[in-house]
Amino acid sequence: MESRIERIKKQLHSASYKLTPQREATVRVLLEHEDDHLSAEDVYLLVKEKSPEIGLATVYRTLELLTELKVVDKINFGDGVSRYDLRQEGADHFHHHLICIECGTVDEIQEDLLGDVEKVVEHDWNFKIKDHRLTFHGICWRCQGKPDPKKANDKRDKE
Ligand SMILES: [Zn+2]
Ligand SMILES: [Zn+2]
Ligand SMILES: [Zn+2]
Repeated sequence: MESRIERIKKQLHSASYKLTPQREATVRVLLEHEDDHLSAEDVYLLVKEKSPEIGLATVYRTLELLTELKVVDKINFGDGVSRYDLRQEGADHFHHHLICIECGTVDEIQEDLLGDVEKVVEHDWNFKIKDHRLTFHGICWRCQGKPDPKKANDKRDKE
């Protein structure tokens, strides 16, 4: 966690911004809730627990700044709420989301998986891909009573 904060601090510095205590508190909440997809209000309520003096406007401006610097991505799952999602370090493209239409869980796929599709788009459409958003809507493994694919994939990777 500390080394990631250090790197985010450097990112801010190279864009001539400082990691103020309020900004740091916001970054910490994002790191602590890396698997969640928090709205600005969610982030604000969590930051406020540790830094009661902070205001929503400050948190909101920090989130916008982090979005601009590509530390986080702003996403919308169709419910009209902007959510903030940390980008994987070193990832060229944004991760994919699996949204369960039964329980509402959002799972993430960090692997890009789109190599072949991207080749077709770049070649057939003369389109230089910079990023993408991919959201699958369906029924998760939990609601289907199936085993946790993360555990199965870990096992596969070890074998
Ligand atoms: Zn995500
Ligand atoms: Zn990609
Ligand atoms: Zn589900």
